[in-house]
Parts: sequence; C-alpha cells; structure tokens
Amino acid sequence: MLKITNAKTIDGRMIDLVTDKDKIISVTKSSEKNNDILGKQPGMNAHDYDDAKIAYHIHDSVYDRQIDAAGYMILPPFVDTHTHLDKTAVGMDWIVNALPPYLPAWVENERSHRDEIGIDPYRQACRLIERDLSYGTIAIRSHVDIDLEHGLRLLDGVMKAREDYKDKVHIELVAFPQSGLLVRLGTYELMSEALSMGADLVGGIDPANVDRDPKGGVDAIFRLAEKYDKPVDIHLHEPGHLGAFTMSLIIERTKAAGMEGRVTISHAFCLGYPEAGLAEPLIEKLADAKIAVTTGSQAYIKYVPSVLQLEDAGVLICGGNDNVRDMWSPYGTGDMLERAMLISMKNGLRRDDLLVRVLRMCSDNGARLLHLQDYGIAPGRDASFVLVRAQTAAECVAQAPKERIVFNHGKIMSV
Ligand SMILES: [Zn+2]
Repeated sequence: MLKITNAKTIDGRMIDLVTDKDKIISVTKSSEKNNDILGKQPGMNAHDYDDAKIAYHIHDSVYDRQIDAAGYMILPPFVDTHTHLDKTAVGMDWIVNALPPYLPAWVENERSHRDEIGIDPYRQACRLIERDLSYGTIAIRSHVDIDLEHGLRLLDGVMKAREDYKDKVHIELVAFPQSGLLVRLGTYELMSEALSMGADLVGGIDPANVDRDPKGGVDAIFRLAEKYDKPVDIHLHEPGHLGAFTMSLIIERTKAAGMEGRVTISHAFCLGYPEAGLAEPLIEKLADAKIAVTTGSQAYIKYVPSVLQLEDAGVLICGGNDNVRDMWSPYGTGDMLERAMLISMKNGLRRDDLLVRVLRMCSDNGARLLHLQDYGIAPGRDASFVLVRAQTAAECVAQAPKERIVFNHGKIMSV
C-alpha cells in the first residue's frame, strides 16, 4: 500500500490518500498540522520550503511507501480528447514548413510526403503515448488518417501501439478521412473496413469545403455510424455561415438518428466567428442534441469557439492537443497542462476560477466524453492522478509546471 500525505486538491482541501495496487482505498482530511502552510503565507514561494520536497520513506507501518506531498497539488489525470497519434514527428528531425495557407495544400503535402519523411505510425504513436503518459495523461482519443494511398496501414500501426499500451492508457481511435470522404472514390469503402477492423468512431472533415457536398457528406458519415453502431467525431473547420450550415445538418442528423450523446464536433471554428446571432442558436441546439465539442484553441487560428460560452450553455466542452509537432503544426508537446494554458490564453482568461474550469475541460470533461470508469480522486476509484508542484490549481494551468509525479493505475510513471 502507498500513502500520500498533505496533497492539496483543486478546491483547496488538504488530503491524505491511500492506494492499494491500482485502486484508491481512502481519501481523508490531512492529519498533519501546518499542512496548509503554503496557502497561509501568500507570497512565499513553494520552492523555499525544504520540507515541501517529495520524500520517499519505507515505513514500519502497513504502508510500503509514504510520500509527503506538501507543496504539491493533486490533480485527476488528464484526458486528451483530440490528437493525431499517426502524424506526430516527435523524436524525429525537424520538418520545415513552407506551405501556402490553404487546407488542400496541407492535406496533399502530408499525404504525399509522410512516408518519405519516415513518419512510421506505430513508432510515432508509441513515442507520443510515452510522452503523454509522462505528463499525466490517462486517456486519448486519436484520429487516424484513412486514405487511398495508405489504406488501413496507418490505423494498423496505431492499433498495434494501442495494444502495447493497453494497460496504461485508454485509447479511442477515430477513422478519419483526412482527404475527404466522398471526393475520392473508394474512401467510403475503406472507412467501412476501418470500422470493421477496430476503429471506435466514425470521423469526418468539412463536408462542404472538402467533400463539396455538405448534405451528402454528413449523410455518409451517419450512414457509417448507424451501420456499424459507432459514435461520430467530425472535424469542422468551415468558417462562419458555411460552418454554421454544416453544423445545423450535423445537429439534425444526430437527432434523426437518435444519436444524442454520441456525436462530437471537433474545432467548431464557426462558433467563434463574429457574425451577430450566428453562434447562440447553434450552441443551444448543440446542448439540446447533447453534441460535445473538442478544442485545441490554437493561437494561430483566428476564430475559435468560446469555451465558457459553450459550457455555460450546457455543452460538454473538452480539450485536445490536436497536432503535436507534425506536418500541420510545429507546436505542441503533448502536455495537457500546457494545452489548458494555451486554451485559457486564446480565450482571454486570467481569473483563477476560470483557469480551473479549463483544467476540468482537460481532465474531468474528457473523462465524461470517453466514458472512463473509476475516474477521479475518491475511494474505490482508479489510482491514477498527478502531483504537480504548485500552490493552486490555477497556477497549474498558468505555469504548466513540469515538476510532477504521475501515478498511473497505482504505479509511479515519472519523478
Ligand atoms: Zn485534428
């Protein structure tokens, strides 16, 4: 058994926590006096306290190991609800990006050159999973390209990586027609094969802009979803009124198929456009159809939806790293605390309570979207959590401290 003492929760409580194998067996109010010393002396730096350092003790007691976590926050593990494990170039040579700013050019560039650059889907997925785990992520939803050139090879590689890491991280895979679902004949059939082979969700991309057929594209996605009884997660980059039109089709189709609670729209940029009266009615309808939204709130995208507006309206809004150092983005590390910081910055947030809301979008909300069982810091739950060197949850978001200790199903991943 392992005992952790003096850890500070997101809501500021000091707790002691005991784990046995992969379960939390008790969470109690911290028994030590002075355990809130950091909170009681604002202005003092946590790093000034020698006794705040994590110490390991082999005790005579029933505990195999005891950790004094004074000076650390205890956070639930992170959930990355939108990434691309098959694309990342982490650990590889830098990819020079000299592309014009048009989506088709980027799609074509990646499709044509990813193999020659040497982006092996299995190796690269493993690399990014390792990183994600070291930062404290417990679950990932990854889109994986399905196209005529690569067939199901990319999915096959990522599925092998998922199998290798199945005891450490929950991974959902979205069959993603990056180059379009209808415009390139044969892709729909490949998507069918991908869903038979083990992809968990039906993906999609910009039915109007990419497929040139918004109604046909949305219908095709939902046909696959109904045939294979799988949820849906659609990339929707389309701007302003065009995106709003496609989104309204997705909402109608979700309700017609009785798929409330099983549809996600990723990015949903149209909701961030400034046209008066555009976003509000759609957001209400998203909430009504129980459609979730994932966001990376990348600074290089001009318009992104307001995470607070979505959440206030009752939409499940979740964070995702999206592209991590790949042919789409030179940015990103895989760290969901860093992503929470970036989402907060892009949304113009500085208040502590609002930063905490974004932290929950990158943890609790993601766990809801991915239906994680036994998630959270409570007796009987999975012993996965993250100790982060910080005084408050807001500091965790604003500074994304790298000094952390990750517990994954009862085992320490990194110190
Ligand atoms: Zn994406």
